[in-house]
Amino acid sequence: MEDLIEKDLELIEKASETIKKNYDRVKYNHTVAVAIRCRNGKIYTGVNVYSSHGACAEMIAIGSAITNGEREFECLVAVRGENGEEILPPCGNCRQVLLDYMPDCKVIININNKLRKIAVRELLPFA
Ligand SMILES: [Zn+2]
Repeated sequence: MEDLIEKDLELIEKASETIKKNYDRVKYNHTVAVAIRCRNGKIYTGVNVYSSHGACAEMIAIGSAITNGEREFECLVAVRGENGEEILPPCGNCRQVLLDYMPDCKVIININNKLRKIAVRELLPFA
C-alpha cells in the first residue's frame, strides 16, 4: 500500500469534475465517475451507464483509454455522488477485469478514512 502523491489528488479531482458534469438527478443512471491515469500521464474518464446489465464507470473509462490506444496504466479512482464526495472501491466484476488488463495498476481506496493506493492484484487475492 502507498500514500497518495500530488498527481493522485489531481486524478480524484478529474473524477469529481466528471461526475459533477454528468450526475443524473432524475433517474440516477449516472452516479459514479472513474478517472484512470496512463503511464504516459494521459487521463481518461467515464461515468457508469446504469441498466440491469449496464456498465460500471471503470469499464467506460478503461474502454475509452483502450480505444485511444492506451495499454499501460498507472492509477485509477472511482468517486460517487453529485460532487464525487465518496471514494468508491471497484466491485467484484471490475476487480476481475482490472486484474486481467492491469494487475500492477494502483487503485485509490478509502481505508478507515485515509486514502491509500493499492495494487489491483492485492484487491483480488486468490483470483
Ligand atoms: Zn464495477
